[in-house]
Amino acid sequence: MVKQTIQIFARVKPTVRKQQQGIYSIDEDEKLTPSLEIILPRDLADGFVNNKRESYKFKFQRIFDQDAKQEAIFENIAKPVAESVLAGYNGTIFAYGQTSSGKTFTITGGAERYSDRGIIPRTLSYIFEQLQKDSSKIYTTHISYLEIYNECGYDLLDPRHEASTLEDLPKVTVLEDPDQNIHLKNLSLHQATTEEEALNLLFLGDTNRMIAETPMNQASTRSHCIFTIHLSSKEPGSATVRRAKLHLVDLAGSERVAKTGVGGQLLTEAKYINLSLHYLEQVIVALSEKHRSHIPYRNSMMTSVLRDSLGGNCMTTMIATLSLEKRNIDESISTCRFAQRVALIRNEAVLNEEIDPRLMILRLQKEIQELKDELALVTGEQRTEALTEAELLQLEKLITSFLEDQDPESKLEVGADMRKIHHCFHYLKKLLTDKKIHGPSRAPSSKVKDQVNQGPSTEEEYKKLREILQQRDNEINILVNMLKKEKKKAQDALHSSSMDRGEPRRSQSSPFPPGNPEGLRTLPLSTPTQAQDSSVIQYRSSLLHRKTGVREEMSLGRQEAFEIFKRDHADSVTIEDNKQILKQRFSEAKALGESINEARSKIGRLKEEITQRHVQQVALGISENTTVPSAPDPMEEKLRLQLEEEKRRYKTMFTRLKALKVEIEHLQLLMDKAKVKLQKEFDAWWAEEATSLQVNSPPVNSFSHMKPFPQTPESQHERSQLLSNQSDVYTRKILPSPGPLLHSQEQSSTGTHLEDSIAKRPVSSVPLTGDSQTDSDILAFIKARQSILQRTGCQ
Ligand code: ADP
Ligand code: MG
Repeated sequence: MVKQTIQIFARVKPTVRKQQQGIYSIDEDEKLTPSLEIILPRDLADGFVNNKRESYKFKFQRIFDQDAKQEAIFENIAKPVAESVLAGYNGTIFAYGQTSSGKTFTITGGAERYSDRGIIPRTLSYIFEQLQKDSSKIYTTHISYLEIYNECGYDLLDPRHEASTLEDLPKVTVLEDPDQNIHLKNLSLHQATTEEEALNLLFLGDTNRMIAETPMNQASTRSHCIFTIHLSSKEPGSATVRRAKLHLVDLAGSERVAKTGVGGQLLTEAKYINLSLHYLEQVIVALSEKHRSHIPYRNSMMTSVLRDSLGGNCMTTMIATLSLEKRNIDESISTCRFAQRVALIRNEAVLNEEIDPRLMILRLQKEIQELKDELALVTGEQRTEALTEAELLQLEKLITSFLEDQDPESKLEVGADMRKIHHCFHYLKKLLTDKKIHGPSRAPSSKVKDQVNQGPSTEEEYKKLREILQQRDNEINILVNMLKKEKKKAQDALHSSSMDRGEPRRSQSSPFPPGNPEGLRTLPLSTPTQAQDSSVIQYRSSLLHRKTGVREEMSLGRQEAFEIFKRDHADSVTIEDNKQILKQRFSEAKALGESINEARSKIGRLKEEITQRHVQQVALGISENTTVPSAPDPMEEKLRLQLEEEKRRYKTMFTRLKALKVEIEHLQLLMDKAKVKLQKEFDAWWAEEATSLQVNSPPVNSFSHMKPFPQTPESQHERSQLLSNQSDVYTRKILPSPGPLLHSQEQSSTGTHLEDSIAKRPVSSVPLTGDSQTDSDILAFIKARQSILQRTGCQ
C-alpha cells in the first residue's frame, strides 16, 4: 500500500503581452516546495479583492513557468503516474483552471504541432513502449472516453455519435454495487493493442466532442472529459490478474458564475458547471478536514466517477493551469487556493490484484485429476474400462507435440493412469515400426545389405565395414550437432531481430513486411490484420467522410464557396504546414525503409557467409579427424563483427522509423481534426449566409435574375453600386475572424471584398437549409460580385 497526499503542480500559460509580467514571481529557492507569489497591482488591491492584501503565496510540488515544454510536463508529472499504473496502482491526473488557461493543451495537446502533443498521447506512447519491452507478462489495454456535460454522462466513443445528437445518445449512468464499487453503465471499453489504435480512439473521441459542440453549447469549456486507460496484466499460467486504471481528466472551466454574466440557457449551463465543480470542492473540503465521516461523493456524477481518485485507492496528481494576466488575477488566486486544499488530501493506493476465476477453475480441475490419478496408483486400484475415443485422440496429440518438441527436457505427461501409459508405448512402437518399414533409412541399409550379400564375408571386411560405419556415425553426429547449433542461432537471430522491431509478440503484423517496399505505403495506416484496429480506422474514415467528405453532395456553388472559405481560413496555414511536414516525413520514412531493407539483406548475406565458413571449418576438422576446430577462425570473427555492426545500424534505423511512424500518424490525425473543424465552421457560415439571404429575399431574387450580366459600363457601375450596398448589409451580420490571414485587415472602407466575408466566421449557427436554390443564389451573388470588382478594378 502506498500512502500519499495528492501531488499538486502549477503551470503558467505563456502571456501574449510582455507587460503582464511582474504580476507573479516563482521562488525556486525553497528546494522541496517551490512557491508561486501572485502580486496584486495597486489598482486591483484597492478594488474588488476585499482584504487588500498585496500578494499571495502558494506552495506547489513544482511550478512550470511560461516556457515549460510539453516534454517536461510529461517527464515530471505524467511519467511517474504512468509508472505506478504499470506497476498495478490506479492513477489520476486532472487539470483545473479557468477557461483558456491551458487545460486541454496540457492534457490532450495543441492542435497544430506534433511537439505540442499533451499528456494523453505521450502517456499512451510511454505505456505501449513499456509493455513491448516486458515480455514476462501478458497485458491487455482498454480505452474509454467519457464526457460529463450538465451532470449527464456521454460516451465519446459510442459509434452512434455519428448519427445522433448528444441529447439522443444513451446517457452514461453511475451504478454502485453492494461493495460500493462504482460501475458506469453505457460507457464502452475499446481494446487497444497498439499505441496507434489508442491514439485513434483519442482523436475519435475528440472529434465526436467537437462535432457535438455548437456555438450555443460551448461544450469544451463547460464539460468535463475523462480519458481512461484500463490496464490488466497477468503472468503466463498464473491465475492472478492485476488491474489498474489511469484517468486523465480535463475539467470544465473553473470561472465563477457571476463573472460569466450571461442569461437564459447559458446561465443554466454555467450554473451546472459551477455546481459540478462546487460539489468537487465540497468533496475536497470534506476530505481535507480530519474526522469527517461523510464525504458527499454521491452529489454529482463527476465526484462519483472520480471517487477513487479523491481520498481513495489512487495516486492522484493535480495540475493547476494559470493564465496570469491582470484581468485573471482573482480566478488565478482561486485556482491556487483550490490546489492548496487538494494538497491536503491523503490517498491510499493498493495493488489491485485479483484471481481470474476461469483460470482458477481450470487449475483446480487439473489438480483434482492429478490427485485422483495418484490415489489410484497408490491404492493399486486398476482402471479397466477402455479409453474413450476422445481420450485416445487427446493422447495422440500429446505424443505428437512431445515428439515435435525440440527441447530435450520436455516431458510427456499423461498422468498416473496405466491405461494411458500403455497406450503411449503402443503408439510409439507403432510409429517406430512404421518408420522402419517405410522410412528413409531403407535405401542405404539395403545397399549395405547388397554389398554384404555380394562381397566376400570375411572377418576382416566386416571389421572394416564396421569402422566405416562408426566413422559415418560420427560424421552424422557432428553434422547433426552443427545443424542444431545453426538452427538455434538462426532462431535467436530471428527472435532478436523481431525484438529489434519491437514486436516480440506480434511480429506477423509488422507494418513493414520484410523485403516489401510496398510496406512503406501502409506506414501511416494501422495494421490491417488487427480487426479492432481496422475497424477504428474504418469508423474514423467514415466519420470524417460524413463530416468532411459530404462535398460530393454539395451543389457546385457551395463547393466553390467552400474552396474559397478554406483558402482564406486561418487554419489553412496550419493544414498546409502540416502537409509539408508530412511530405518530408514520408520521404524520410521511404528513404529509411529502403536503407532498412538493404541492411536486412546485408545481414542475411553475412549470416550465410558465416554459416558457409563454419561448415567449411567443420568439414576441414572432419577430414583431419578432429571434431572441433582448434583455434577460432579469424575470418569468421571478422564476419561476426560486421554482422553485429550491421545489426546495430538496423536497430537504430528501425527505432527512428518507428518514431517517424508515430509522428506521421499523429500529424494525420491532427489534419483530420482540422478538416472536420473547417467543414463545421463552413457549414455554420453557409447556414448564416443562407438565412441572411432569405431575410433579404427581394435582392436575393434579383441576384439570381442577374445571371446573364449586362456588359455595358453604365450598367456595370449601377450594378456594382447595388451590390456593394447589398453586401454591406449582408456582411455586417458576420463577426470578423481572428485569423491572421484575413483580407479584412487590408480592405478599403468603401467596398467589402466578397472573399473576406467568406473568411468571416458566424456568431451563431442555424440549421442548414439544404436548399439548392439558395445555394445557387449565393454562388450567383459571389460570381456577380467578383466580376464587378474585377472590372471596376477594386480587386
Ligand atoms: P482550456 O482548455 O483551459 O480552456 P486551452 O488548452 O484550450 O484552454 O488553451 C487555450 C489556448 O491557449 C489554446 O489555443 C492553446 O493552444 C493555447 N495554450 C494553452 N497553453 C499553452 C502553452 N503552454 N503554450 C502554448 N499555447 C498554449
Ligand atoms: Mg479546454
